[in-house]
Amino acid sequence: MNSPQNDVIVCKFGGTSLADAAQIRKVAAIVRSDARRRFVVVSAPGKRHASDQKITDLLLTCWHLAGQKLDPGEPLRLICERYEEIARELNVPPVAAPLAHVEAELSKLAAGDADTLATRDWMAARGESFMARLLADFLEADCVGAGECIRFDGEGLLDAVSYENLAARMSRPGLYVIPGFYGRDPAGRIKTFPRGGSDITGAVVARAVGAALYENWTDVSGLLMADPRVIANPRPIEEVTYRELRELAYSGASVLHDETIFPAAEAGIPIQIKNTNSPGAPGTRIVAQRAPGEHAVVGIAGRTGFSIITVEKANMNRQIGFGRRMLEVFESHNVSFEHVPSGIDSLSIVASDEQLGGKTAAVVRDLERVLEPDRIETEGDLALIATVGEGMAYRVGVAGRVFEALREAGVNVRMISQGASEISIITGVAAPDYERAVRAIYHAFVT
Ligand code: ADP
Ligand code: ASP
Ligand code: MG
Repeated sequence: MNSPQNDVIVCKFGGTSLADAAQIRKVAAIVRSDARRRFVVVSAPGKRHASDQKITDLLLTCWHLAGQKLDPGEPLRLICERYEEIARELNVPPVAAPLAHVEAELSKLAAGDADTLATRDWMAARGESFMARLLADFLEADCVGAGECIRFDGEGLLDAVSYENLAARMSRPGLYVIPGFYGRDPAGRIKTFPRGGSDITGAVVARAVGAALYENWTDVSGLLMADPRVIANPRPIEEVTYRELRELAYSGASVLHDETIFPAAEAGIPIQIKNTNSPGAPGTRIVAQRAPGEHAVVGIAGRTGFSIITVEKANMNRQIGFGRRMLEVFESHNVSFEHVPSGIDSLSIVASDEQLGGKTAAVVRDLERVLEPDRIETEGDLALIATVGEGMAYRVGVAGRVFEALREAGVNVRMISQGASEISIITGVAAPDYERAVRAIYHAFVT
């Protein structure tokens, strides 16, 4: 890893910041306005308006179609048009040859040729790869191949050699553009981070070059206390800790990928969320520790799409190993879980429907066979809401206010969970009550 390069800044720009030539001009102005901004990580072009499609989604559609021997011509045409228009308007060389390469690889996939490069991840990563090329040309910067530097280990986790590779590749002075979202696996194949993972690449680059700051530029002026699609004009958050951000992002505050904080926190690099469309707005700063503010709760985030499976058996508390056997059933179906609320004679497991993926009936059958319970109940259509704040560990009455607000709003609470770290209170409610519940909790803390 590099020694700190006297206060350099890594800036990552998200899809909406790179959606068209006009947005890219804003990006260039931001980069050029501060000589410390020497490392620019890019996403693929995102949506230009609400009904538009992200380039990554179009690429994945092409891959699905070709895989089913269907014609990917239409989405491919939309992708080509987007890049052509951007290149033309910015007056930089087009990415015609790499796009023709994509078309050729898709044809091989459709023909059942096992030799094709066109895996799901290779296709998805083209969006960032082409964007980096275009922006590097426009900024007259050095374009770094993420596939050369960022490596995953056999378990699919980031290999620490990535830090050395990046530092060595970018050791000279100058401006660098790095495509986000992907690297290579030990077999040399392109592999992506999870969706939204360019945020993670930004943090990896920041740690590799020993940056003083990681700026994450998006389309909102920082992290807001609640999802702006649920609460009109939520209060902006000035400062949060890495731990609070991780809880909020994991629970649904999709502004930053929840895994972003690890490389940054390990190296103590602050993250600043900024708005490309309003660069003067202060945004949100994410740091290791913050002064205890006046608010015990920093934010509220949530998602729908969970199920709860509850097993009841008399004298469960005396049966050593009951919990382990229950969790083993989930493990054997490759289902990871979110929470395990328990009672004296009952144990519940909350898992996302994405994880259960239609396997609920099979899981229940195995639970019946392995545990011989008195009763098993499955309830779907659940939403989980996290009320987050480090301060709640030292403050009396936070949980009381959450539940009082939900009671007043007439929302029935299906599940409660508070992690031992006392940084968040999770409530499970019926999905149709989700927005009402978020509003009730928000207004219990923000008047
Ligand atoms: P990018 O393309 O820049 O990576 P994302 O779409 O991934 O941007 O993230 C920004 C979006 O996150 C915002 O437009 C907003 O709709 C959404 N969002 C959800 N929850 C929050 C929150 N609590 N604060 C701010 N934005 C949020
Ligand atoms: N383009 C990728 C996605 O849409 C990665 C990212 O934008 O962070 O998920
Ligand atoms: Mg994002």
